[in-house]
Amino acid sequence: MDYDRRFLLWWGLLLFVCKLGSRRQLDFDLRDAATYMLANVNRLAGTAQTTLPVHDTLDHFLQHLGAAPLAALRTQLVRRLIRMKALDGARLLGRVVVAIDGTGHLRFARPHCPHCLVQHHATHDVYLHLVEEAKVVGPGGLVLSVGTVFIENPPGWAAGAPGDAERWKQDCELTAVGRLLPALREALPQTPVCLTGDALFACRPVIARVEAQGWAYVFTFKPGRLPAAWAEFQALLRVAPENTVRLTRPDGAQQVYRWATGVSAEDADRRPYVFNALQCEETVDGVTTTFAWLTGLPVTRDTVVRIAEKGGRPRWTIDNEGFNMQKNSDLNLEHAYSTDPERLKAYYYLLQIAHLMLQLLERGSLLRRVARAVGKTPLTLFGSLKNIARRLLEGLRNSLLPAEAAAAPRIQIRLEDTS
Ligand SMILES: [Zn+2]
Repeated sequence: MDYDRRFLLWWGLLLFVCKLGSRRQLDFDLRDAATYMLANVNRLAGTAQTTLPVHDTLDHFLQHLGAAPLAALRTQLVRRLIRMKALDGARLLGRVVVAIDGTGHLRFARPHCPHCLVQHHATHDVYLHLVEEAKVVGPGGLVLSVGTVFIENPPGWAAGAPGDAERWKQDCELTAVGRLLPALREALPQTPVCLTGDALFACRPVIARVEAQGWAYVFTFKPGRLPAAWAEFQALLRVAPENTVRLTRPDGAQQVYRWATGVSAEDADRRPYVFNALQCEETVDGVTTTFAWLTGLPVTRDTVVRIAEKGGRPRWTIDNEGFNMQKNSDLNLEHAYSTDPERLKAYYYLLQIAHLMLQLLERGSLLRRVARAVGKTPLTLFGSLKNIARRLLEGLRNSLLPAEAAAAPRIQIRLEDTS
């Protein structure tokens, strides 16, 4: 039986959109001739299939297709949202904010493929696949994958060489930035970008690369990572006490913002570089926490709060709404949807596309309007994101999508800053 690729693409996306958790589950939840599933997927895909595929059919399709077209589709969707100005509420000084970070993807107890990274423990080794992501930050905590670099060993690498696995991972994350930034440039060639990331990236090689692209950056400023620059920053704050903005947030938290321009640092080869720095001392219930960032953006009385709120803090959303959501929900990022190294990547991109669709549903105006009509939010109406995915599955099984919803629909979804 031949299947149209559009049909199989939707089949693969529904695996994640409906949070089925494993490929095998497709055969039980979706492959059910007694439901509207066949008719609905035909409507979504614009196809006329007469039977439902088994999960191996999807796997063969992805083997044939490869990961690259799915990566391109993912990027195209994000570019479209940027072009439609749907994400403009999260821009910082006109720039699209892109969070970068690395995370674990898969771990195996035994060697899985020639590309696995090996982590040595006292009694055993662990075989890892890591990934480094660039995710566009949207209004209300939206995070959309737009650049991906798989951190893996090159062909011919001999297992057992590296000693300190954690250090090695850090080295690889920094090395991977050298591949991630060109990928991001290709994904967003015309877009003014501001990168946000943790203190790992606050070093001259990364900053020089970012500035060479004409991009801006806001990276976490940690005293331990750049001790001399931190001391200079604090000294500059002492001589310019007027560079202070005090705020009380709606929840009662007290914030004191302070900043300095022209903080200088040296890299390992004693080459100098200069940046601006800002810090926010935040007091909640008598407990004060200090956050600090370094940036090339102009920090002034007018911009300091925006740079912290829209450039600094979104660095956490890639962890919280990005990686954690994809791992600790039934999207099951750390599940090996395939054992084949290439197909693993195809499933990874399917997951990213499905998560984009889910975020537009969960955080967009359509569901919010439905919930508001009964005095609730989407979360209080359905109870959990998992329940929203379950209802979606029930809906696709038990009712036929209206023809007008599938026929070149122009449905407007608005995103608003709810954070
Ligand atoms: Zn492997």
